[in-house]
Amino acid sequence: MARTITILGATGSIGRSTLDLIERESDRFDVVALTAQRDVDGLAAAARRTRAQRAVIGDAGLYGALKEALADSGVEAAAGEGAIIEAAELPADWTMGAIVGTAGLSPVMAALRRGQTVALANKESLVLAGGLMMQAAREAGATLLPVDSEHNAVFQCFPHDDPARVRRVILTASGGPFRSCTREEMARMTPAQAVKHPNWSMGAKISVDSATLMNKGLELIEAYHLFPVGHERLSVLVHPQSVVHSLVEYYDGSVLAQLGPADMRTPIAYTLAWPERMATPCTPLDLAQVGRLDFEEPDLVRFPALALAFQALREGGARPGVLNASNEVAVAAFLAGRIGFLDIAFIVETVLARYAPTAPATIDEALLIDAEARRVTEDALERKAA
Ligand code: NAD
Ligand code: MG
Repeated sequence: MARTITILGATGSIGRSTLDLIERESDRFDVVALTAQRDVDGLAAAARRTRAQRAVIGDAGLYGALKEALADSGVEAAAGEGAIIEAAELPADWTMGAIVGTAGLSPVMAALRRGQTVALANKESLVLAGGLMMQAAREAGATLLPVDSEHNAVFQCFPHDDPARVRRVILTASGGPFRSCTREEMARMTPAQAVKHPNWSMGAKISVDSATLMNKGLELIEAYHLFPVGHERLSVLVHPQSVVHSLVEYYDGSVLAQLGPADMRTPIAYTLAWPERMATPCTPLDLAQVGRLDFEEPDLVRFPALALAFQALREGGARPGVLNASNEVAVAAFLAGRIGFLDIAFIVETVLARYAPTAPATIDEALLIDAEARRVTEDALERKAA
């Protein structure tokens, strides 16, 4: 029997890779819903190709355009933030959470509450409300499978029955495009240079996060929620080749790692087929061709965003949520040419110093903290410009 599938964020980098895999084996998968924010053409084309039941555009002003693009296709059109959540509420065996940023939280929560399988790429939702999400997944009996390559690697090596066997979880980081740059050089980097990742092709926001190493910081917090080892047993290792996707060190000294091509279709396929495996079109890893694997400690002085994330994780409570929201606004300001590259971490630090709410007890409280952190960040951006 075919598996029913929904993709939240179907037009992005992860969404398109997911579509590529399911379209290669279209008899194994039936598409329930696809969502996007503004890319009407990309959404409508994907919905037609996969014969989706429903296509949802987040920007309500684009409803007419979507309806027109889907005329005579048999695909139902819907629009608006609420309609994305309604799509996430439709029964589907497997849901991909690939919306970028905090906007992904409510749709992913809706999918988790259905108690089916959720493949999660949207790390920002876990950073903002990981405790509440994991609790919702447990209560509903949902299966949460990590898509992020590092967490997918850890998931494949982790002793799920007995986490006490783990001495350390080691997340690898490519180091991003500015790995060997000085602070002076980084100060002059443009958005175009920052989104040019050496190994991975990704959306703009995560590419900038990879350049500041905030991506690795968000991933530390993501790992904290996904794997019950506590923050003391989480660490980061820079590995420029992006071949070893992460490692789990056991108490006896054994270290298990997952290796693979730098192609997100491998971890996505793992979550699509889990607990089985499926074939992918990824170029197989050729270690002789790679030749050598390098590792080095991350530099927390040149990359202060990673230090801020370590600190937010140690302090806990609402700190990770404030870090995440202010980073999202600061990255958007950098991409819009409003601030320089080094200002991103500086702004996040300023906001963390100015806004320290208590830990959220509900998703609504987490979203309020997120909104207030964005306001404080806008304020910090305006003061900086003045
Ligand atoms: P992207 O920018 O390419 O795509 C984002 C998707 O979200 C698009 O479909 C877009 O329409 C939708 N979207 C954007 N804003 C929205 C909003 N306000 N409401 C509803 N939908 C909205 O991003 P991406 O690179 O595919 O990343 C998606 C998520 O996966 C991010 O959280 C990212 O950190 C994570 N991730 C990505 C990669 C990667 O290789 N691209 C790897 C690991 C994790
Ligand atoms: Mg990652």
